[in-house]
Amino acid sequence: MLSNHFQNGIETAKLVWSRLPNAEDGDADEVGVSKKIDGSSVESLDYEVVENHAYREEQAQRGKLHVGYYVVVKWFFALLIGIGTGLAAIFINISVENFAGWKYSLTFSIIQKSYIAGFVVYMLINLVLVYSSTYIITQFAPAAAGSGIPEIKGYLNGVDTHGILLFRTLIGKIFGSIGSVGGGLALGKEGPLVHTGACIASLLGQGGSTKYHLSSRWLQFFNSDRDRRDLVTCGCAAGVAAAFRAPVGGVLFALEEVTSWWRSQLMWRVFFTSAIVAVVVRTAMGWCKSGKCGHFGSGGFIIWDVSGGQEDYSFEELLPMAVIGVIGGLLGALFNQLTIYITYWRRNYLHKKGNRVKIIEVCLISLVTSIISFGLPLFRSCSPCPESDPDSGIECPRPPGTYGNYVNFYCGKDKEYNDLATIFFNTQDDAIRNLFSAKTIHEYSAQSLLTFLVMFYTLAVVTFGTAVPAGQFVPGIMIGSTYGRLVGMFVVSFYKKLNIEEGTYALLGAASFLGGSMRMTVSLCVIMVEITNNLTLLPLIMLVLLISKAVGDAFNEGLYEEQARLRGIPLLESRPKNEMRKMKAKEAFGNQKVVYFPRVVKVADVVSILKSNNHNGFPVIDSKSGETLVIGLMLRSHLLVLLQSKVDFQHSPLPSDSRGGSLPIRHNFSEFVKPASSKGLSIHDIHLGPDDLEMYIDLAPFVNRSPYIVPEDMSLTKVYNLFRQLGLRHIFVVPRASRVIGMITRKDLLIEVFNWIIPLYVILSAL
Ligand code: ATP
Ligand code: MG
Repeated sequence: MLSNHFQNGIETAKLVWSRLPNAEDGDADEVGVSKKIDGSSVESLDYEVVENHAYREEQAQRGKLHVGYYVVVKWFFALLIGIGTGLAAIFINISVENFAGWKYSLTFSIIQKSYIAGFVVYMLINLVLVYSSTYIITQFAPAAAGSGIPEIKGYLNGVDTHGILLFRTLIGKIFGSIGSVGGGLALGKEGPLVHTGACIASLLGQGGSTKYHLSSRWLQFFNSDRDRRDLVTCGCAAGVAAAFRAPVGGVLFALEEVTSWWRSQLMWRVFFTSAIVAVVVRTAMGWCKSGKCGHFGSGGFIIWDVSGGQEDYSFEELLPMAVIGVIGGLLGALFNQLTIYITYWRRNYLHKKGNRVKIIEVCLISLVTSIISFGLPLFRSCSPCPESDPDSGIECPRPPGTYGNYVNFYCGKDKEYNDLATIFFNTQDDAIRNLFSAKTIHEYSAQSLLTFLVMFYTLAVVTFGTAVPAGQFVPGIMIGSTYGRLVGMFVVSFYKKLNIEEGTYALLGAASFLGGSMRMTVSLCVIMVEITNNLTLLPLIMLVLLISKAVGDAFNEGLYEEQARLRGIPLLESRPKNEMRKMKAKEAFGNQKVVYFPRVVKVADVVSILKSNNHNGFPVIDSKSGETLVIGLMLRSHLLVLLQSKVDFQHSPLPSDSRGGSLPIRHNFSEFVKPASSKGLSIHDIHLGPDDLEMYIDLAPFVNRSPYIVPEDMSLTKVYNLFRQLGLRHIFVVPRASRVIGMITRKDLLIEVFNWIIPLYVILSAL
């Protein structure tokens, strides 16, 4: 079987895994050796429809009204996901802005009297916030650490990483990001918001959290992994739409980065969810503008309006812009590589020592971040404020006790500002707004930008992978805009006659770093345009993204793919490896003997087979008058349901329909469904008496009668594409088929159905 392509010593698998051992393998040795994944640690999701008797019966009973109701409910859920994610984003933003706002206001008013006291207060507030975040993660919601995007990407690719969609993970993610971002670490809240959106969607899809008694039967409508996959996709798009206030960017992010399967109906629903998020966020921001939300409202949410900047660009500028693309590709690829090594070391050595070490590590990083962000600006000499133009809105220096642009920090004179403090000793959103700022030419010295670049890059690399929720968008934007602005400064002094803005280069720099590290193009491009409100720069952003992605791809894979691999998530990428073309399906499983069940099987045998291996799918074979027939695929989870309920046990070893009757149906299809947030039943949870073990069970009504079957000499590329495009978990490999009973072409599939359901569906879809 080809349930994951990392096993059996397949040559291609070796290529895929040749650079680093898998972090799940505790005893992984030197770099450069291929490692197999322990199949029991990662399981796949069942995206394929299990067409068993109960399913067929349920489908037959579904009336036209039911189908319409199903469509309406799907749209209703899309609405709920949009509202939920929008509200979560507002809550996180209000909290982060207020914590960070109070922190900086307090520190700035204290440093009017004493810098040492100011530093102590600043450092302690950071420490408390960061400690609360890491405490939540280590003690309560370990799956909420990091951005969560690699895990969600894996989920949508068909891999079940336990715990990522739990209610407690959602809570840990929300409160953990407030602490880690408010505490000034070099990370962002945008990645975690994608995970938050996915958790909200999944929890809604299963009707709430049963464990915490927060569930409603009315919401328990979607019970297959397949339906939940669509909802989670909506949740991811909603997360990005909420984080950046970029609804179209959210849709494209879901399409380009996280999903593996996409269809037009899903696109409409995702689009609808993103639009809802945009409305919710906008309404809340309008409400907060009047100062009802404390420090949030005056800027807060991510939107860096750079309108009023460079209106056009000239041909000469294309070269420096291409250079920014190359720098982005190089620095982005380096970032990915360094984080791979650090994550690998952390997981295999440091984090194995327990939670206490994780907490100490995060607290130490918080201390170092506080020391650097407060201490380094002290060594910068201040610059005189620029000539004040009343229309520019520039306030230099800022009034004492406030923070923002042109910060007066450790300056001898009143009319001076500290350029390093303006970006380092500031909230993330303000720092980025200052770096993007088009109105302020020569605000920063090259030395300050370089210092910030080196220090922040190092901090971002070291902070990545610690036990706190962490996104890489904002650090990426800060790093990129710094070197972008540096390049811009040189271009301004070189092409004196042209009307060039440093802020434009900062924006391109940000795009280039994200492109070089995350390797997204279309979605990033749209997100950058949406957050900066500047359409003029669209072609330039496209150019820079393409260059940085191409340069980055020459060195390694994107950040999320690399991280997914380190976490042992067996992602099936969109393209199979070239080597697979020469390989046949039978080479994928080697000499392995297939473990199967006969149609009528003794309960004791089922139990012993299930205990003897970890496989989740078994062929079921029926032997009739000397002929052997494969009647379908039986899932372990379904077998466990049967063993637990016992109602299908029979005394006779003969098939239940052999005496002239029809196959009995004693189960609803919903009984076979496992909640997304649970590990499901295990064979060890089931207790059967000696009498039960002597009984038999007829599997015919419960098998998936239409498993995917391929001939043994089909090329592995074709098998891979089937697997990936249909979201399969198991494929049967058989010898050459002996008979052909028919032929289907596309014309056979264009079935005309005249009923009112189709117009109804079209109207509902259009809504
Ligand atoms: P997944 O892990 O993707 O959820 P699974 O648990 O059914 O699917 P594993 O048991 O983890 O599959 O697969 C591990 C190896 O066992 C694979 O190489 C696969 O080919 C093989 N395998 C899976 N099912 C069977 C089976 N019924 N009989 C023999 N070999 C099997
Ligand atoms: Mg498995």
